Amino acid sequence: MLINGDRLKRHLEELAEIGKIGETGVCRLAHSKEDRQAVEVVKGWMEEAGLTAKIDGFGNLIGRVEGTEPDKPILVLGSHIDSQPYGGRFDGTAGALGAIEVVHSMRENGITPARSIEVICFSDEEGSRFNKGIFGVRGLAGMLEEGELERKDKQGITRREALKEFGVEPDLSGSPAYQKGDIEAFLELHIEQGPVLEQKNRPVGIVSGISGPIWLTVTLEGFAGHAGSVPMPMRQDALVGASEIIRKFDELVKTEGSETTVGTVGSMQVFPNSRNIIAEKVEFTVDLRDIDLEARTKLEEKLYKIIEETSASFDLKSEIKEDTRSEPRYCADWIKDIMKEEEEKLGLDAPTLMSGPFHDALIMSYICDYGMIFVRCEKGISHNPLEFAEMEDIEKGVGLLYATAVRISQS
Ligand SMILES: [Zn+2]
Repeated sequence: MLINGDRLKRHLEELAEIGKIGETGVCRLAHSKEDRQAVEVVKGWMEEAGLTAKIDGFGNLIGRVEGTEPDKPILVLGSHIDSQPYGGRFDGTAGALGAIEVVHSMRENGITPARSIEVICFSDEEGSRFNKGIFGVRGLAGMLEEGELERKDKQGITRREALKEFGVEPDLSGSPAYQKGDIEAFLELHIEQGPVLEQKNRPVGIVSGISGPIWLTVTLEGFAGHAGSVPMPMRQDALVGASEIIRKFDELVKTEGSETTVGTVGSMQVFPNSRNIIAEKVEFTVDLRDIDLEARTKLEEKLYKIIEETSASFDLKSEIKEDTRSEPRYCADWIKDIMKEEEEKLGLDAPTLMSGPFHDALIMSYICDYGMIFVRCEKGISHNPLEFAEMEDIEKGVGLLYATAVRISQS
């Protein structure tokens, strides 16, 4: 074994105790007391692994071990240790603690890296507290937007206040921590959060890229009226129109999407939302993603047409607001090649698959080449206390992370 699986298991179990809910769940919201406690504990593990660790102004925990050739671009490994309010034990933590284990094992195995290595536990990846995630990594990359520190949580606490309470002094005016060329590669291991590896009966996969989402908010406006008196032909029912659009969208993605296209309407608001009033206004979200940008664009155009035609036929006014548009970000071929060679040596028979969810790696891809390793998780369940990954699978994934990190750090 390349890494110490027992130690990794112990760390995962100990971390799962912080913010524990029920038998298997965790709640470690960004910048919370539990988050701070977790950061302190993990910082201790970094130091045991031989890393010099610090917490930056965004709440990121960063550990560093110097290489023998300090002028070379560095290798960065990492993921996150914050969680959803009703989250699981493996999301983020497998990769963050796995990265520390890699460095710890390298030292124990007598390997001194040529490149310096940094391990990062990125702060607020999940985004549930302030309704905007991948915060820490965007801070490092200089990609935070104005006003982000003024975003409030449900209690009315701003991010700035929360970070102060957490114990750091946030500052958006500084220059990014990393420039292009500073980092040779970023590697992240994560549980798959999907069912593909389980379906293929493989413990570990190599990620091809992170698919880019388009997020839209669609508003349909009709006319309210008494549910008992307005005859059917005279109605401008926004809810019936919305239902028709959602059904057609689902059918469109299923019949005309590529193998990797997924489309979801996950949230809807109905006004005035009363059982005896015809719905005047309906607002719903659209999440459309694909690793294949051409396929996504084609479907997006068709969706716009569906919204336009359906609204017209139901006599509704429609408006489409674009909330997010991200392009797919592909993993570097040279990193995938190294992973492929190493997984073959380890006998993992690892398939290549794409990532539907985004990760810290998505942002890192704007400053350096990146690679990702997925670990099988039960039924693809995540963001849920039922989230589960076999320790054996995590060890295999971290073994591949180790082998890849050793190759790159020595190159
Ligand atoms: Zn995650």
